[in-house]
Formats: sequence, structure tokens, C-alpha cells
Amino acid sequence: MITFEDLPVIPVFASVPSQDIACLAQSSGDVRLGVGDYAVHEGDERSMFVVLAGRIEVTKVIDGIERVIGQRVPGQIFGEVPITFGTPYQGSYRAAEAARLMHVSARQFHALAAAHPAVLTQVAAIAAERIGGLKGIAMAPPKARALMLAHQGDDGARQLRTFLGRNQISHDWVLADAPDRATRWTGPPLADDELPALVCDDGSLLKRACCRDVAEHLGLQTRPRGGEYDAVIVGGGPAGLAAAVYGASEGLRTLVIEREAPGGQAETSSRIENYLGFPTGVSGDELARRALQQARRLGAEVMVTRTVADIAPDTKVITLDGGDHVRARSIVLATGVSWRRLSSPGFDRLLGKGVFYGASRSEAGTTQGQDIHLIGAGNSAGQAAMFFANHARTVTLVVRGDSLEKSMSHYLIEQIRGKPNIRVALHSELQALHGEKLLEAIDLVDRATGTVRRVASGGVFVFIGADAETGWMPDAITRDERGFVCTGEAAARSGRWQMDRDPYLLETTVPGIFACGDVRCSPVKRVAAAVGEGSMAIAFVHQYLAHAISARAG
Ligand SMILES: Cc1cc2nc3c(=O)[nH]c(=O)nc-3n(C[C@H](O)[C@H](O)[C@H](O)COP(=O)(O)OP(=O)(O)OC[C@H]3O[C@@H](n4cnc5c(N)ncnc54)[C@H](O)[C@@H]3O)c2cc1C
Repeated sequence: MITFEDLPVIPVFASVPSQDIACLAQSSGDVRLGVGDYAVHEGDERSMFVVLAGRIEVTKVIDGIERVIGQRVPGQIFGEVPITFGTPYQGSYRAAEAARLMHVSARQFHALAAAHPAVLTQVAAIAAERIGGLKGIAMAPPKARALMLAHQGDDGARQLRTFLGRNQISHDWVLADAPDRATRWTGPPLADDELPALVCDDGSLLKRACCRDVAEHLGLQTRPRGGEYDAVIVGGGPAGLAAAVYGASEGLRTLVIEREAPGGQAETSSRIENYLGFPTGVSGDELARRALQQARRLGAEVMVTRTVADIAPDTKVITLDGGDHVRARSIVLATGVSWRRLSSPGFDRLLGKGVFYGASRSEAGTTQGQDIHLIGAGNSAGQAAMFFANHARTVTLVVRGDSLEKSMSHYLIEQIRGKPNIRVALHSELQALHGEKLLEAIDLVDRATGTVRRVASGGVFVFIGADAETGWMPDAITRDERGFVCTGEAAARSGRWQMDRDPYLLETTVPGIFACGDVRCSPVKRVAAAVGEGSMAIAFVHQYLAHAISARAG
């Protein structure tokens, strides 16, 4: 409990008699923080803190990176903006050295201010000053962290842009043949075969840049920081990020290993309409951005551009691409599924040059005013059609069957009917793709008559389903005939489960290795299911670890 003697001089309370301050101190929260502990996070509900001892730094996530924007020392307050204007916190506050704080709830503060109006005047004046500072941060022209020079339609450059976007790193790019290249490109002159190239904000120049180089130069984690983790999560889609959030928040040393950038398939979804809590829908990249921030904030390590190549079932030693190793006490497989490939002539050559798997929001600009084609008849194709219809001149859904009703939700079919620039080409199939440097036209075959017609196309987006890529996993992790990982009852039934207890619901045939989300053998392939299973997996990890400890003790 805080006593009057514990309080330093607090200028905002100068007008309050000491017995009232003593009363407030006794009924306020006594918060003690170790170095790095947070008192409050950006977005949290209003309240106010007084620093009694130590030093607090104010941080804000700018450009995907947490930056320190101020500090508070004994006698100073924080929370003045939320408490005055009734808004959530605009920054996070963490201890730069061991600290002690007095936590004043909104109710306590307003009771005090009603009795001593000068307190409100003072706090409001500080708030007004701080708002000026925040406005300065918001108004500062955003400085891109990387500048890319690339050829139009270069798939490597497209992958880099997607990668930067998914990692929330601001970047600009200059086309190699742009008339203003000389003024906009800040790097040295480069030959064509040295592109794509990047100048990073640390001044380094990356020629023929790949995602791993970029990650390392822009400060993204590509190597584990610890020797051993309580939970290593393979895959940073919705299931993996949910597991990371729960694992880290429940005190487990948690590492996520993601082969590309966090977000998974959800990142390629232009609008997820059915995720609880987002009444007007949420884009996949926004959901991924929030989840990544949350996982990191809670202390999970998230490694990018690293692929898990193997797992030793007995020791749970994980082998990464390039041969590095990570030791894990438990493993959560959240590797999802990968797009099924199309084999039409011209497809591979034009991939990334007007032809894409899925529908990332970042592709919207390239479809502006174009006639584009979406291959598939499921909900993902329908959502993408609705999204691109606001950008492209026309959107044609190329559907093999004779109706959408069998594969698409009713609400989407209704929405599509209401969009005059969306067309549906039933019993049609993509036969070939044409174009030199970029996609120009496609051949569509009518499955009923066999007639082939060539149509101009400014973009082809493929939504024909996905497969689990689990061939790299050791045989001890049993998969079904389609490659999905068996867990729980299916693992028990496989005849390969060797413990005397039953496997947990999400446990594979290897004790302590769990699977969740789309990679798991289950008919439900949804964001909500992936998130739910990711969080449940951590509950089973706890049980497994507790069991392992008691077995060792016994
Ligand atoms: C276009 C589209 C629209 C969709 N719309 C909706 C919707 O509206 N509502 C809905 O509920 N669902 C929707 N879905 C489905 C939803 O996105 C998936 O169910 C969900 O993303 C599954 O999450 P996951 O984490 O299990 O797998 P994924 O999202 O597939 O993530 C798996 C991650 O693991 C990584 N990975 C794979 N192998 C390795 C390895 N060996 N090492 C390291 N990392 C690895 C991958 O790079 C990937 O990032 C949509 C899907 C798509 C493609």
C-alpha cells in the first residue's frame, strides 16, 4: 500500500491538501515494475499513473517498430491524455529501470478533480501539451525504410514488396525504366542484372535482393535468440500467431518460425467477413498485422524467412534451412496449406507478372481499370471478386461447374449479383495464358461445347484450393492420405501412438508435438478455427510439460 511518505513532490497535486493526497495514495494501486515490464499498452483503457520511483519510457509502434518517444521520472504523471479526453492510451509505458507507480483509476481521478478543480486544469494543460507532441509525430512525413529499384513485372521484386508489406516496413519503389529514375533512386548506378536492388535505412545497398537479406538489414529476426524454448511454433499464420499470443502471455518461452512473413493465407484474403468481433469485416493483412504486434508485445520471438526442414521426434531438435538447430520442449505445427498449382501453358512463366495465387490487397492498384479473371468458385474467389470490383473495370469469375450455389455462400452470391461489373463464366476453364513480359490475354475453354475463346486480361487470380505440404515432416508424425496431420483420436486410432495415456485433442502421434489450423486433419478450414486451435494447442502444451516434469520427478 502506498503511504503519504512514499510520495515524491507531485506538481499536479499541489493544490490538494495532504490528507486528501494521503487518502488517494492509500486507495490507489501500488504497481511495481521490473526493467522492461509494461505499466500500460497502447490502446488500453484510460486511467492515470504517478511515477513514485524509477524511470518510465514512453513507446509507440511506428512503422512496425516500437520506438521510444519520451520518458517520465518521479513526480511526473502519465495517462493525462486518456483521462482528460476519454480516449485509449496513445502509447505504451514501460520501465526503463525498476519502477514504482501509483495507479489512479478514472473514477478516483474524477472524484479528486470534482473536489479540487485545479487538478483537472493542470492535468488538462499537460494533456494539451502532449497532444501537440503526438500531433508532431503523426504529421512528420513518413520516411520509407527502404527504397527499391526494380523492373516492371519482376516476380522477385513483387515478392519483396509483399514481404516488406507483410512485415509492416514502409518502402518506396522506382521502376528501372521510369523517366525520373535518376532523381528518385538514391543508390549508385546499377546494371539490369543487379536488380531488384534496395537501399535500406542503415545506408546499405542490396543487389539482387532476396527476402532473407532484406530481413537481416532491416532488423527483422532471422535467428533464435535463446538456446531452448518451451514452445516452438512452426508457421506464422492465424493458428501459429494465436499459439504465440497464448504461449507468450502464459509465460512460456515461445518462438515462431515462419518461412516467409507472418500472416499465412489470411494475408492473401482481401476481406474476411465472418471473423468474430469485426462487424464490417477485416482484411487479412490487417488481422495479421494486429496479431503479429500482439504476439511480439507479449514477448514471443517471431523469426521470418526461415523454413523448418526437419524435426527429430525423440529430442525435438528442429533443423532449419541452412542447417541451424533450435531445441524445443514442445512443438506446435501450424504450417497451414499451400495453393494448388495450375498447369496451364504460360502459367509458371507469367506468375507474378499479372498472374497470382490468392488476392492480396496490395495487388488492387495493378488491377485499376483492367478486365481481370478470377479462377475458382469458392468463398475466397467470391470475396476477392467483391474486392477487385471496386478497382478493376470488369471482374470475371471463371467457374468449371454450372453454378456458384454448390461452392459459395449465399450472402456472397447475392452481393456478386448486385455488382454490375462482376461476370460469371460458368462451365469454363483456363486453358492457356499469353503475354511477353506481362500477362496480356488468356484462352478460356467452354467445357460444354469445347469452344476456345481468347480474351484480353489484365490479371488472373487463382483460387482453386490448397494442399498440406507436410512431406518434410518425419514419418513418426502420422498424416492422412492427403497429407494432413492426424491428431487426438485419429492419432490414437493410427496404431502409432505409443504412450499409456491418450493423445491430447491436438497432439500428433509424437508426444509433445501438436498440430493446429489448416494443416490438421479436420474438415474445418477457417480463420476462427485456426485461431481457436492455436490457443487450445497451448493449453495442451502446458499439460504435456507438466506431465513431463512429474514423470521425471517420479
Ligand atoms: C484468399 C483466401 C480467403 C479466405 N477467406 C476466409 C474467410 O473469409 N474466412 C475464413 O474464416 N477463412 C478464410 N480463408 C481461410 C483461412 O485463411 C485459413 O483457414 C487460415 O489462414 C488457416 O490458418 P493457418 O495458420 O492454419 O495456416 P496458414 O494461414 O496457411 O499459415 C501457415 C503458415 O505457415 C508457414 N509455413 C508453412 N510451412 C512452413 C515451414 N516448413 N517452416 C516455416 N513456416 C512454414 C506458411 O508460410 C504460412 O505463413 C481464406 C483463405 C484464402 C486463401
